[in-house]
Amino acid sequence: MSSKVAEVAVSSTPKMQFPFLDLKAQFATIREEVMSAVTRVMDSQVFIMGPEVSAFEEEVKSQTGAEFTIGCASGSDALLLALMALEVGPGDEVIAPPFTFVATAGSIARLRAKPVFADIDAVTYNLDPAKLEAKITKKTKAIIPVHLFGLAADMDPIMAIARKHNIAVIEDAAQAIGSKYKGKAVGSIGSMGCFSFFPSKNLGGAGDGGLITTNDPALAEKLRILRVHGSRSKYEYQLLGMNSRLDSLQAAILRVKLKHLDKWAAGRERNADLYRKLFHEHKLTDLVQPPVAPDGYVHVYNQFTIRTPKRDALKSHLQRLGIPTEIYYPHCLHLQPAFADLGHKPGDCPESEKASVEALSLPIYTELKQQQIEAVVNGIADFYGRA
Ligand SMILES: *Cc1c(COP(=O)(O)O)cnc(C)c1O
Repeated sequence: MSSKVAEVAVSSTPKMQFPFLDLKAQFATIREEVMSAVTRVMDSQVFIMGPEVSAFEEEVKSQTGAEFTIGCASGSDALLLALMALEVGPGDEVIAPPFTFVATAGSIARLRAKPVFADIDAVTYNLDPAKLEAKITKKTKAIIPVHLFGLAADMDPIMAIARKHNIAVIEDAAQAIGSKYKGKAVGSIGSMGCFSFFPSKNLGGAGDGGLITTNDPALAEKLRILRVHGSRSKYEYQLLGMNSRLDSLQAAILRVKLKHLDKWAAGRERNADLYRKLFHEHKLTDLVQPPVAPDGYVHVYNQFTIRTPKRDALKSHLQRLGIPTEIYYPHCLHLQPAFADLGHKPGDCPESEKASVEALSLPIYTELKQQQIEAVVNGIADFYGRA
């Protein structure tokens, strides 16, 4: 009998199929502009650096507010280059949150420095400034706050602690281009900011790409050298660098998409507001905690992440209804095998660990239709018996 009731309940919510992120829908709106940019680069046969890269570096300043912008091959490389510019290496410690994409801490370990994990705030999912100072030692060389899901970390207290101890701050802004903190664009607050143009980021290329921002001319100069083998002029090597350039093709495509970024961010915000309104109408706000954008913050919603202790059951229920969701992130970095040598155990970063079992991201991209958002919320209401 109970299975019959379940069937009726499920079929009362019409099944709707749509992707978690629909890059094809976005491309359809800019197809001609993108194709003409691609043709322009192909006709020029300039693929490495060149005018498209410098033009993009110039134009992206409108979003980052930083004085210098240095394109590179990926967001992960941006973090690596930023740490290399600070000469981070063996014996150094760098503080980062463990509830983030692997590259945040991987870049530290890759340079044989030690990632020191500091826990997050339960509401914003970002580095908790109150947990930061206790992690600082004589070896601490830098702090990497992450602006997770498109919301800025609480930068004022983080910067105050960093200044007090004379430690550099690298903003991991991979998910947060256009996001603001008390009127300042992310990437313009710390010593350097790191951006990613991975296709699923708010400004996504047709492949990998990244960028570093800084207001420090000496760091900017160093970063420009480090991304081309440590070379200022051909076959002379001042530093041990790497090959990490932004492709001309990517730069040309990103220039097209940059023009639409504010409009797309507004679309994401509109969708977030609709989710909140519908959660309220269905009396779901006590059951699923929607993301917050504290006063003075501009959230750009790379993800719209709710939390609930029933996360896995809710995800399965929505999946049966054809509603796509994703889990960012199912495992904290301090408990991953790749970081096993640090000797962490469950309980070391309790808020991060709790978020990893409770957080669930819902579709949020600009091109989502109102009925699709309604279907998501109806599915959640159905799960809680509040349809
Ligand atoms: C995507 C991402 C990166 C890495 O960027 P890639 O371009 O994929 O290398 C780093 N940090 C965070 C928080 C990210 O989301």
